[in-house]
Amino acid sequence: MAIRFEEARRIILDATHLLDSERVQLLDAAGRALAEDFCAPWDMPRWDNSAMDGFAVRAADAAAQKELIISGYIPAGSAAPQAVEPGCAIKIMTGAPIPPGCEVVVPFEETVEQKDRVRLLTTLRSREHIRFRGEDVSAGDKVLPAGSLLRPPEINLLASFGQSLVPVYQRPRVAILSTGDELVELGTSPGPGQIVNSNAFSLAAAVREAGGDPFLLGIARDTMDSHREKLAMGLAADVLITSAGVSAGDRDLVRDVLAQLGVEQKFWKIAIKPGRPTAFGVKGKTLVFSLPGNPVSTMVTFELFVRPALRKMQGKSPALQPFARAILAEPVRKRPERVQFLRVQVRSEEGRLMASSSGDQNTGILRTMVRANGIVMLPFERDRFEAGDEVDVLLLD
Ligand code: AMP
Ligand code: MG
Repeated sequence: MAIRFEEARRIILDATHLLDSERVQLLDAAGRALAEDFCAPWDMPRWDNSAMDGFAVRAADAAAQKELIISGYIPAGSAAPQAVEPGCAIKIMTGAPIPPGCEVVVPFEETVEQKDRVRLLTTLRSREHIRFRGEDVSAGDKVLPAGSLLRPPEINLLASFGQSLVPVYQRPRVAILSTGDELVELGTSPGPGQIVNSNAFSLAAAVREAGGDPFLLGIARDTMDSHREKLAMGLAADVLITSAGVSAGDRDLVRDVLAQLGVEQKFWKIAIKPGRPTAFGVKGKTLVFSLPGNPVSTMVTFELFVRPALRKMQGKSPALQPFARAILAEPVRKRPERVQFLRVQVRSEEGRLMASSSGDQNTGILRTMVRANGIVMLPFERDRFEAGDEVDVLLLD
């Protein structure tokens, strides 16, 4: 019996554990998830400072037409500035510390400077153009909780607080095994009846994109011995992904050999198309995904089942990437009692996403996967969809 799509994803995520953490150079931390809460070691900004290039003055002096004596200069990077006296202005650069007594910074654009004097053109309120200590972050604030994805803004924050090494979850090591007597390695020209082992490359690319560290185990031939040798190697990884050999064909050996090697099968067959024969099991902490061999099915099942597990292992949340809502551009028929995935081109039209089929949906057709930038999920129960119906779509880029 095939299990339901949502049930399959729940079983996978229940079996998926967080990897250990490691400390990496900040330069290498982008795209990883933080493994510990990060609390600010100091206030940011660390001192009151000027938000503009201009003149630091007392509030009482910040009136239009006032003429003030320029009594000093504070460039960015200077430490303890001298105070502003009444009737005086200190030239100050953006980011430089606010001198004692100063309550306003008057930008250059709102002044006229003549020799050692400056005339103000506008009246400003107290506190204008000053960035106050701690107004961005207070010391001790939990600015980045564990699990935060490190994007350029988070990286900037960590750098601002002097963090050169940051704790992140390890990248999952993912072993990739292709199976089948018809396969030849890339670089060998295929003879009659042979095809290139292309799945290894799309899987490795997808694993990298998902933050994992792929390694290729090569090809297992359609014998028990060959499967045993290669699968045993793969079980040393955090995740083992196989392609093909998981249907009901008499040469489909993957599940039998995995069972012999002590992998506990959690399910086999999901009520979906494409990807029905997908199997999943675990041995210790190693997750084992047995994906079907058709390149389209392999890629679609990777997106639906493997990517969420890789996200969870790396502490990225949500593990399941949300579906967007899109409008179907044309009617679709499907069989009820299975979830069907449609390769689509999604485009934005008048503020809404429109999804139209990228062409022939036969699992053997790779070009319609190449042309697709989304996968529409047609739910289990329904069998007909009209143009204009709203559906869930997983955006691929
Ligand atoms: P199977 O799941 O073994 O029935 O394979 C289904 C289809 O996928 C067959 O047409 C295979 O030739 C093809 N296939 C299997 N493995 C690969 C692979 N590594 N790269 C490309 N196509 C494959
Ligand atoms: Mg096969």
